[in-house]
Amino acid sequence: MGILDNLIGLIRTEPIKESSWIDYIKYNIVWFIRKAKIYSYRNRKNPWVLGSIFSLILASYVVIPTITNKNADTQIKRSKRPDKYTTGFINTGNDCFANSTIQSLVPLYELNKYFEEMLMFKIPEIAIKYPMPLHLSMMNLLNRLQSTIHSPETLSVWDFLHLLENIHLGKISRSQHDAHELFAIILETLEDEYNRFFSFMSKLTDDEKKELGKIPHFPFSSAMETKLQCFSCKGISKPVKIPTMTLELMVPQTQSSTTLMDIIERERNEVIEDYSCFVCITKFIVFNTDKLKLINDEQREFIQILKESLMSGELRINDDLRENDTYKSILFNNETLLGQLKKSTVVRKNTFIETPEIIPIHLSRSMYSDTQSWKNACNVSISEILEFPTTLSSSSHVKYRLKSVIRHQGSHSSGHYECYRRKPQYLKINEDEYVNDIPEIGKSKSITKGKKLGSVLNKPFWRISDAKISEVSTDYILNDGKAVYMLFYERLYS
Ligand SMILES: [Zn+2]
Repeated sequence: MGILDNLIGLIRTEPIKESSWIDYIKYNIVWFIRKAKIYSYRNRKNPWVLGSIFSLILASYVVIPTITNKNADTQIKRSKRPDKYTTGFINTGNDCFANSTIQSLVPLYELNKYFEEMLMFKIPEIAIKYPMPLHLSMMNLLNRLQSTIHSPETLSVWDFLHLLENIHLGKISRSQHDAHELFAIILETLEDEYNRFFSFMSKLTDDEKKELGKIPHFPFSSAMETKLQCFSCKGISKPVKIPTMTLELMVPQTQSSTTLMDIIERERNEVIEDYSCFVCITKFIVFNTDKLKLINDEQREFIQILKESLMSGELRINDDLRENDTYKSILFNNETLLGQLKKSTVVRKNTFIETPEIIPIHLSRSMYSDTQSWKNACNVSISEILEFPTTLSSSSHVKYRLKSVIRHQGSHSSGHYECYRRKPQYLKINEDEYVNDIPEIGKSKSITKGKKLGSVLNKPFWRISDAKISEVSTDYILNDGKAVYMLFYERLYS
């Protein structure tokens, strides 16, 4: 327990933003060791537990910033420029899927701001028992990956992955090497920690809530509304609200090239043929009442109800009345008559009703037949800026800007993942002195005026292949349409 003593010593001596976080980190450590014991009991061969504890302890360095020694003047490769290098990850085998996933989260300003707000949040006594180990570990990892470096440096992603596996008690398949799957697990775990942590809110009175201060908003959460509209009768369905965190898009399988906007547009206005529109059917029934075979009063009454709902404009194209037994019996008795009615074409409209700060987009490129699966190599032209309508009125749009991309090269079952990560904008304030615009977790910072760095303007992205870092232009990425797999866009406020 030497490391733990050391940590508790650090908590006592170093300044920290919110003192409630000291108790909170202590609780997280105790909780985690307990969890790790359960895990190690279940998995006799357990090389991960120590790494996970270590990862969590490292996490506390975020809250307790320490001066790290970066002045290794023995390094051969050294750049004066702050944007020449960034920290990469070593690859010990098949790590590229995880390395790229973590790197893609680093430039997300809103995610950093969220973590920053979490650290500013004064944790009430009642909430201390809800641990957020992945939050702490992620804060630590992002903080380290954001540090400006002047010569190549690497980290291992495994402390973080071991922690994730520990949290889920090893439920994550180790053979799963898909960046999208890993991203989904990270996101779910963060959201779960967030929801559990803030569950204390429901136990507070209104006055107590007021004293809490601003509750950080989870930056990935958003909601879409799905609505169907019939081309023939213009009738609409009851809107359904769907919580959304990632935009899942299917790359077209019959085209060799398309644009991201086209895919989004198609998803937003998906056309469905052969739909049984309830309004169209009702109109037909009402129009042909004299030809209908109605066998009892119940059926005649039902037709009257249908008529009234139609006239009032309340009838929906997927109305619950469709499920009514009397209606079904009318259909059964009038099969021949109703067979004359053609099916309708409808459009499914998907619209953001709560816009997210960050939109992760997954381009599904998997194609399957009975015996095999392969990768859809359709070229998808992406754009730096995306616009989304927020409500059904077309006037209000929100803009998003590309922050990172995960590219995949190879076949469906094997290949290599890399990440394009947007550099922060560095401002030169003095000779060899720069500041950047990423909110640094655990450190307060104000952006000063300065000269923008030309190399960031010319090559605003790093291409990160595990430990190998190179610099690329925006056009370079926009032309990599065959390989783009996941994209991270962030909301622009202007
Ligand atoms: Zn219709």
